[in-house]
Amino acid sequence: MQNIKSICIYCGCGCNLNFYLKNGKIEKILPDKADPVSEGKSCMKGLTINEVVGKGRIISPMIRKSKKLKKVSWEEAYKYIYKNTKDLEPDEIFFSPSGKITNEDNFIMQKFARIVFGTNNIDSCCSRICHQATVQGLRNIFGNPANPWRFDEIYDRDCMLIIGSNPASNYPVLFNKILLMKEKGMKILSVQPIINLTSKYADENLLVYPGTEVVLLNGIMNFLVEQKAYEKGVENIDGFKELSNLVKEYSIEKVCDICKIKQEQFIKFAEVVANSKSLGIIHGMGLTQHVNAIENIHSLLNLLLLKGGKLLSCRGEVNVQGVDDMACSPVMLPVDGMVNFTRLEKLWERKVTIKKGKSLLEAFLISPVKAAFISSFNPAQSLPNLNEVHKNLKKMFLVQMDCYFNLTSSFAKVILPTPLLIERFGTITNGERRVRLVRKVVDQKNAKPEWIIFKELSQYFGLAKHFNYKNEREIFREIVEVIPAYSMIDVDFVYEGNDGWADKEIKFKKFIPERFEGVEDVRSKKYPFLLITFRSQYHFLTGEATSKSKTLRKFKIDFCYISTDDARKLKLKDGDKVRVSSSSGSVVAKVKIDNTMPEGTVGMHFHSEKVLVNKLFPTKFDEETLTPNLKVVGVKIKKV
Ligand code: SF4
Repeated sequence: MQNIKSICIYCGCGCNLNFYLKNGKIEKILPDKADPVSEGKSCMKGLTINEVVGKGRIISPMIRKSKKLKKVSWEEAYKYIYKNTKDLEPDEIFFSPSGKITNEDNFIMQKFARIVFGTNNIDSCCSRICHQATVQGLRNIFGNPANPWRFDEIYDRDCMLIIGSNPASNYPVLFNKILLMKEKGMKILSVQPIINLTSKYADENLLVYPGTEVVLLNGIMNFLVEQKAYEKGVENIDGFKELSNLVKEYSIEKVCDICKIKQEQFIKFAEVVANSKSLGIIHGMGLTQHVNAIENIHSLLNLLLLKGGKLLSCRGEVNVQGVDDMACSPVMLPVDGMVNFTRLEKLWERKVTIKKGKSLLEAFLISPVKAAFISSFNPAQSLPNLNEVHKNLKKMFLVQMDCYFNLTSSFAKVILPTPLLIERFGTITNGERRVRLVRKVVDQKNAKPEWIIFKELSQYFGLAKHFNYKNEREIFREIVEVIPAYSMIDVDFVYEGNDGWADKEIKFKKFIPERFEGVEDVRSKKYPFLLITFRSQYHFLTGEATSKSKTLRKFKIDFCYISTDDARKLKLKDGDKVRVSSSSGSVVAKVKIDNTMPEGTVGMHFHSEKVLVNKLFPTKFDEETLTPNLKVVGVKIKKV
């Protein structure tokens, strides 16, 4: 059997996998024992990719005429796109590249937006909705919008603080490393609003009231400052004095009162942090998908800095870091400053605008654009306030480039088939900023990667000379020339199949103290329950791929988890249907009684197309990073 090594299509660990083929079809997938990321222990999602490759794919370009989608040739689709977009102003069009596609595809997509439409209206779902606050926080505190540490640095930690994340379920390849270290004595500390799989392995668990994490972190820092249990030399870091003064306001009593935890629990927890000589921290969307996302991340990184710790979080989609690095953002050009900016204009032979563009929420919710090109993104399911998003999508000229049909397809005016990651060639940059080669494992006839789509489309706009690439390697050469963080990468070395590294260097260190400004109590008389969303171990994001797998779809995701006491009060039993309603919408889900849910709290997964949980979230977001709240909202429950 032929064996081709390539990258898993799913999460930001970006594991190497061995694909075994017979007659051009994937027969089986095995982990790669030599892979420093997975160390030969990839998860079930990666090992079942063969079950999703050929199912429910988009196989032809389509355009919507008289409300119906009709198959057309690529040329017809391009002409239709050109006709409907050529007269748009820069502010009227939007581009959404993706963490599911290669660096090369993302780079060309943003270049097309900037060169052809003169717009910075570019933003990707994965980096904006999930971890913009993480990237921004790292930039503010360490001067580099990327994690300075590697996953294998888990092996030199004696304590792992896991907050707003469930790596036992969602990042098993990281958690395997943690479990190995636990056997050697590493302490695991978990901070979550509800019990999850990771909590079951933790030495200490704190169940905090959602939205009060800044208080907890400031309280821990106060404890450390009082005991002088911090890293030698941190007194000399900018902002230390301000931080140590501010955290004095967070007495144990105050912290425990606001976070709704017991004092003896807090003290035990803080003592483990104080005694740690090499702290590791892992966080997730439980900290970032909130209106106070940036305050959460600053506080977390303040603690990290105080202890001289290392951040070991994994994030989002396989190319979550790469899509941001490729300048797929409304505020960042692929350059550092004016000198490089001039060089970029010279290289691209085109004026490039510096006007700030629209972010995802602005383009689809706040001031909707007239047209959008979206790649492997499902705004009809993944954005907040979906009733409003659906109204706006109906009015838009939406060009969907995707592998699978999804809810957004019902709004698209043009649909173009694109390959899955393992049907492409190029590179991705995983959550560690490790740049890895993606090899084409199978060929998807009729599908075209974004770099070819935009190269061909540029001819209609008379700008083909700017996209005259022969292959992905040529594009990667331009990336290395244009993106400063990639300038040290040896193109041929990476294209031979070796891992390269984009810039991970810490440029400076600075504390940014954050005061707790109060939590909006999302529970009210009208909406007496707190809804918390979370992800399943067996599904990924909006579930287009994982729902095709016969192994993974056995694990159901359309439940509303409710505590035993609340179920009794509402006279509910397992399998009953309930309407869950908030101020912005309602959904119907099946009841699952779960004795780990706290009273007054219900939980739902966010992967299901049948239960559109994001309808329940009004448009609320962190103002610095424009990250929406998709984690907690007040709801009422009624049996139907
Ligand atoms: Fe690795 Fe993530 Fe794929 Fe699992 S889903 S195999 S952890 S990259």
